[in-house]
Amino acid sequence: MMRWGALVAGAVIAMLSAEVVAQTQSPPPPVREITKIAGDVYRFRNNFHYSVFAVTPAGVIATDPINADAAKWLKAEIKTRFNQPIKYVIYSHDHADHVSGGEEWADTATVIAHANAKDIIIGEKRPTAVPHVTFSDRMELELGGTVVELIYVGRNHSNNSLVVRFPKEKLIFAVDFIPVGAVAFRDFPDAYLTDWIESLRRVEAMEFDTLAPGHGPLGNKQSVVNYRTYMEDLYTQVLAAVRAGKSVEEIKAAVNLSKYESWAGYKDMAALNIVGMYRMVTSNRRPN
Ligand SMILES: [Zn+2]
Repeated sequence: MMRWGALVAGAVIAMLSAEVVAQTQSPPPPVREITKIAGDVYRFRNNFHYSVFAVTPAGVIATDPINADAAKWLKAEIKTRFNQPIKYVIYSHDHADHVSGGEEWADTATVIAHANAKDIIIGEKRPTAVPHVTFSDRMELELGGTVVELIYVGRNHSNNSLVVRFPKEKLIFAVDFIPVGAVAFRDFPDAYLTDWIESLRRVEAMEFDTLAPGHGPLGNKQSVVNYRTYMEDLYTQVLAAVRAGKSVEEIKAAVNLSKYESWAGYKDMAALNIVGMYRMVTSNRRPN
């Protein structure tokens, strides 16, 4: 899903380009770019969505295609710049705004995802290639001397989010469950609260220097710690307020998240985060 940053920045771009659109009657072209992160790993941007790919002498290991047009564009760019086919595609999780368009790469690539993602992709008829290979806990890939680890750290923002780790570059790709310097998206749709916090601790225990998220700027291990602290703080405050018998409206007024005021999305999403946390806390609580 689009995050707050996408919504806010999208609104600004929409305003700036309103005149152009009025003149041409066509929407502005998508912002697409490829930037090198480290070693053989590159970041692919399509507007407010990002994925990563690794170039090896035996082909490319790609991750989220984002959508069909973006996938076509990246395939052509990879051909022009590196003259390599895409050999593997790894879906970060099942959500349509990240995995759509996989069919554009499936002619040369093996598509890999968590087993739970495959069931949802089929069940929800996601507009993408159904994964060819699935796993439950861990998987290791090797292509042209590049090793990639696929690690399931438990349920968080979905029940199938992966950490894709590139050991040589000390880099991880993780989407939507570790916002970098930002609060959570809306009211935590498709979320598993306590498992989420535990999954962040598992990420903190991994060896990496760079976190490449699916939205926003690159982060690092401290970004994971910061976001886990936010989740715990929000959880602790909402639970205490629920136990004190406060209503959701009273809780929105009582919970103090002002120390995260500088985080992206705070203004638009913080109150929604409280509502979502209230929903999750009350669904797992049995009062006396
Ligand atoms: Zn998502």
